[in-house]
Amino acid sequence: MKDGKAETLYHVAIAVRNIDEVEKLYETALGLKVHHREIVEEQGVKSSMLVPEDGGTALELLEPLSDNSPISNFLEKRGEGIHHICFIVDNIQSALNRLKEQGVQLIDESPRLGAYGAKVAFIHPKAMNGVLIELAEMPKK
Ligand code: ZN
Repeated sequence: MKDGKAETLYHVAIAVRNIDEVEKLYETALGLKVHHREIVEEQGVKSSMLVPEDGGTALELLEPLSDNSPISNFLEKRGEGIHHICFIVDNIQSALNRLKEQGVQLIDESPRLGAYGAKVAFIHPKAMNGVLIELAEMPKK
């Protein structure tokens, strides 16, 4: 099925000021394990993906690389906290086309490169009850 519907809740992302400290906290407090770390220049962030013991939905920590990062703006306005949630879709372009047809306000009309080689796009939080939603199409193996 290439209909662009959400398949899985992939991760919940938290904006943080110090990714090393927060990694340690979530490892110690909840037993999450760091699965992958990456610098995503295109989005101006350092990303760390933590997973619970039995897998399932991950937690993404996002630290800004500079004051120009969208995460810096978020931290200034709202402080640390939940930044977005991300669903995996099988075909991100179909998903974006469908959303456009439905008149849903998008931040990205076409996908860009996200962490872990995924194609990602964001839906505007105004269109989704105040929640910033990310869609991700994972690289094909
Ligand atoms: Zn994300």
